[in-house]
Amino acid sequence: MRLLIVEDDDLLGDALATGLRQLGHAVDWFGDGAQADAALAGAAFDVVVLDLGLPRGDGMLWLRRWRGRGLLLPLLILTARDGVEQRIEGLDAGADDYLVKPITIDELAARLRALVRRSAGQAQAAWQHGALEYDPATKAVRWQGQPVELTGRELALLEALMAQSRRVLSKAHLLEKLYDWSGSEPESNALEVHIHHLRRKIHPSIVRTVRGVGYALGSGEGAA
Ligand code: CA
Repeated sequence: MRLLIVEDDDLLGDALATGLRQLGHAVDWFGDGAQADAALAGAAFDVVVLDLGLPRGDGMLWLRRWRGRGLLLPLLILTARDGVEQRIEGLDAGADDYLVKPITIDELAARLRALVRRSAGQAQAAWQHGALEYDPATKAVRWQGQPVELTGRELALLEALMAQSRRVLSKAHLLEKLYDWSGSEPESNALEVHIHHLRRKIHPSIVRTVRGVGYALGSGEGAA
C-alpha cells in the first residue's frame, strides 16, 4: 500500500520511511502539512500518518481541513502529545487512530494494516477472494490452499487489486500503489510485467484486462 507520512523530525521521518519500505510499502514522507496537502492531490494514498507538532501549521489544523474537505482516507496521528484530552480531540477531529511516541515500526505497521483492512471492507486479518487468500501481516499468499511465492511489487499489486476487488482500476492508479516518489521512474511496461507474473504464478484469469480502462481482480476460474 501507499503511505503518506507527515513528520518534521528528520531522524524519525527517515526511520519510519525506511522501516515501512522494508515491509513492502510505497512511502512518501514530507516535513509539513502544506507539502503533504499537495501530495494528497497527486497520488492514490491508502493511509496517512500525521505528526501534530509541525512547522507552518499544526497537524490538528490540517486534519480538520482535510476532513472538512471530505477526505475519507484512514489517518493515524503519531505524536508526542500524550494527554487524554489531546487524544480525544484528535479522534473527534477525524483521526482513526492515535499513537504516542515512541513507537516501534512493527506496532505502527500493524495499526496501519488494521486501518486499511477496515477501509477495504475486510473484517478478517487474512483477505479472501474466492480461492485466493492473502495475509497482509505475514505477506503469505495462498491459491487453492497452496502457497504462492511473490516478489514485493507483485504483493503490492495483488494487495491493491484485492483492496478494491469489485472495481476496475486504472493503470495510473495501480502504478501509484506500487511506486512512491523516492526512487527512479518505473519502466513503461513495469505494470504489465507484474500482471503477467501474477497470472503465471496464481492463475491466468486472476487479473482481468478491461480494454481501455485498466485491470480488475478476476475469479481465477475458466479461460483467461
Ligand atoms: Ca513534530
